[in-house]
Amino acid sequence: MIVLKSRREIELMRQAGRLVAQAHQLVRELLRPGVTTAEIDQHVETFIRAHKAVPSFKGYRGFPASTCISINEELVHGIPGRRRLRAGDIVSVDIGVIYRGYHGDSAWTYAVGDISPEARRLLQTTETALMAGIAQARAGKRLGDVGHAIQQVVEAAGFSVIREYVGHGIGREMHEPPQVPNYGESGKGLLLRPGMTLAIEPMVSMGTWETRVLHDQWTVVSADGSLTAHFEHTVAITDNGADILTLP
Ligand code: MG
Ligand code: MG
Repeated sequence: MIVLKSRREIELMRQAGRLVAQAHQLVRELLRPGVTTAEIDQHVETFIRAHKAVPSFKGYRGFPASTCISINEELVHGIPGRRRLRAGDIVSVDIGVIYRGYHGDSAWTYAVGDISPEARRLLQTTETALMAGIAQARAGKRLGDVGHAIQQVVEAAGFSVIREYVGHGIGREMHEPPQVPNYGESGKGLLLRPGMTLAIEPMVSMGTWETRVLHDQWTVVSADGSLTAHFEHTVAITDNGADILTLP
């Protein structure tokens, strides 16, 4: 069942989302060649807890960290550890926060030092796809409009939309109905209504859209080893369009 949120609940989700966005600002300051992904994770966790909030991911189905950090061909669910970032890497950082019972969820793919023109185009395309999806996320539109807009941007650039992982409803739970695919047909699917809160999150590969999971049972990589990107915002559907909740 899809839970519609009251104005008050959306304001609480905005507070959670603001902490997520501020944690991303911290990540931007920390990103440099030589830093380990565990160091980034530790700083983010300390920041979240200092604001009387809880990292959504820590302990979720046994996930051991507060952030998911996925490098290059790693798409999502990478476990922070001793690996050091290198110039030329692209790094997807996914952060979730619970504040006063409500979740915020946002991911961003960052460049470490100078990256290749193709990698830069992947990042720009995926961010553009996210914003195109958000532009369709308003009352009266359908979920297929969101997915279609994202898919069009990605495929026009010659890249692939990941099929096996999708966005989701969000609120008191990190993952609520409905699923929000990054592909679809315009005019099809669930009718969007004010009070729906969604995590819209295009996941894009430069090569195949197929994925596999590494032996750590978490890290998802592109099946052909090509570079991947992931951009995500939590939004509320209003009468006047999408209200992005994960902004600083
Ligand atoms: Mg996320
Ligand atoms: Mg999400």
